[in-house]
Amino acid sequence: MNSKHRVGILGATGVVGQRFIQLLQNHPQFEVTALAASDRSQGKTYAEACAWRLPGEMPERVKRIVVQPPAPPLDCDFVFSSLPGEVAEIAEESFARAGFPVISNSSSHRMDADVPLLIPEVNHEHLALIDSQRAAHGYERGFIVTNPNCSAIVIVMALAPLHACFGVVSCVVTTMQALSGAGYPGVASLDAADNVVPFIGGEEEKIQAETLKLLGRVGDRKINDAEILVSAQCNRVNVTDGHMASVRVKLSRPASLDEVRDALASFTSLPQQLKLHSAPASPIIVRDEADRPQPRLDRDAGNGMSVSVGRIARDNVLDYRFVALGHNTIRGAAGATILNAELLVAMEKLPDSRLQ
Ligand code: NAP
Repeated sequence: MNSKHRVGILGATGVVGQRFIQLLQNHPQFEVTALAASDRSQGKTYAEACAWRLPGEMPERVKRIVVQPPAPPLDCDFVFSSLPGEVAEIAEESFARAGFPVISNSSSHRMDADVPLLIPEVNHEHLALIDSQRAAHGYERGFIVTNPNCSAIVIVMALAPLHACFGVVSCVVTTMQALSGAGYPGVASLDAADNVVPFIGGEEEKIQAETLKLLGRVGDRKINDAEILVSAQCNRVNVTDGHMASVRVKLSRPASLDEVRDALASFTSLPQQLKLHSAPASPIIVRDEADRPQPRLDRDAGNGMSVSVGRIARDNVLDYRFVALGHNTIRGAAGATILNAELLVAMEKLPDSRLQ
């Protein structure tokens, strides 16, 4: 008997959509039964519509699924969304209204007051917003849960244990973000080669706003933002995968270098206790070598779900500085969304599969 939850993927042919399909191959709880993309792809089989760009072959099971428009109903129990923001806004609401939980990687609803912006290791209690979201929108079985921006998730994974142990007062971040973060075909090769582009539209604002919501506390039908000053500058660099962030923090309580290192290295949370399938044993891996982390060497740590932190040192301007690195299409996108779904299953917030 097949007891897996049947999932649909919106934006299935894109950079993140392909990661979903790769990560869901042989997943113990989820089975891909529906795929949706733009009118360029609709009506074609996935094999016809999608130019597969990940290492290895396109999984056999999805090749013959016919790509649908991203509109309900789809033949699934809930959907993962990696639609472009402007399309996601309306499509995700229509799925939630039609009774489909939407577990989204897109930015459209992240900052909605009643939508959880979730990192299971950091703020699982924010899922309390689902009830008020349903009440406010009249959703019966549906709801929307989002994961953060691909850089914000890397930065906040590292800030969370420091905030819990010592309080973070302010934080200055400079990112070096991979080309795959721009989707496909992304940045023109003549802009990327031999170059750094010091602008990624909307990214600095997203990091600043999302960090405060992620580290905030549940209030009355909304999250009360954390009181932290955040300044972010973002750069696109000539790396295929892996977003790196150079971070400086001011803490509210004194902490020794060893205490800061220990807080990061010993960080574990609910996903590790629950042994969720995609949860890495160590959400943060501290590297003590002088020249780590590096995208090529460290982005796949913990199957792409761990954040690597190195270069931890006292800072002459703020209190401490470090470098954090994570895989932007795994921990920063599809892997994060799947981990959110695994937590929702564990908390019995997703409908039982119709295949049971
Ligand atoms: P992408 O490679 O450009 O893929 C976009 C996907 O959306 C494709 O499946 C495309 O289908 C579909 N699509 C485009 N326009 C559509 C429309 N009008 N109606 C229906 N479907 C449409 O982009 P991506 O990098 O996968 O990013 C997808 C989302 O994830 C974005 O919201 C992005 O901000 C977010 N995100 C990306 C990353 C990353 O590292 N790449 C990380 C975090 C979040 P066709 O193939 O048929 O055109």
